[in-house]
Amino acid sequence: MRRSLVAGNWKMNGSIASVNELMDGLITAAADINAEIAVCPTFVHLPQVAKLLESANIKLGAQNLCDQEKGAFTGEISGDMLSELGCQYVLVGHSERRQVYVESDALIARKFAAAKRSKLIPVLCVGETLEEREQGITQNVVGAQINAVLDQEGIEGLKNAVIAYEPVWAIGTGKTASPEQAQEVHAFIRELLTSHNGEVAENTQILYGGSVKAANAGDLFGQKDIDGGLVGGASLKAEEFLAICRAAG
Ligand code: PEP
Repeated sequence: MRRSLVAGNWKMNGSIASVNELMDGLITAAADINAEIAVCPTFVHLPQVAKLLESANIKLGAQNLCDQEKGAFTGEISGDMLSELGCQYVLVGHSERRQVYVESDALIARKFAAAKRSKLIPVLCVGETLEEREQGITQNVVGAQINAVLDQEGIEGLKNAVIAYEPVWAIGTGKTASPEQAQEVHAFIRELLTSHNGEVAENTQILYGGSVKAANAGDLFGQKDIDGGLVGGASLKAEEFLAICRAAG
């Protein structure tokens, strides 16, 4: 039986003071929530949040990692560094990385492998642009993004990994996919995994991301193949994020 997971992607937001305040609002209330919860602060806030989370019911994730293990890669952060800080999750292939930093499917597959080497749970983000949806090629795009990882890691690599379906047109835009639109793609992803290994497909958490808020979380999470959410903007407000986590629990 899959547990629900709600992960907050804070993106490049926060200060030492605002992070303390947000965590203050989350930690006590999270103790009574059934869903798994994770927060993904910026790299610089990870040690601060790790300390605050020591005995909390919230896990720690990072937003990105380097595909290489160590060495002359100025400005990069390795998977082992994240593990050592207490991270359990790491986002891989977020659409902002794919679009703004032009990360290719191949690089993202290498980052996924790097996360696994460091015993992190990669949250592989996939999703189509509005143009691709309008062209009717959503499944081709999402399928290719997942196959880039499957080709390299095999279906075994998907064990202890999470997939987040995030239509690019819904991220940070206030436009959410309808529960039916989201379920259709989640079912496609589940079938793709099933064609490789039914057990892995059954156990893999597939999250929806794209303007999730308290007001729409219940309907989205009520769909058969939606196992929680990856939440951007709404994860920066403690009460809103907690309400989303409760909707998943
Ligand atoms: C995200 O950053 O992954 C995201 C889904 O953002 P938002 O919830 O703000 O659309």
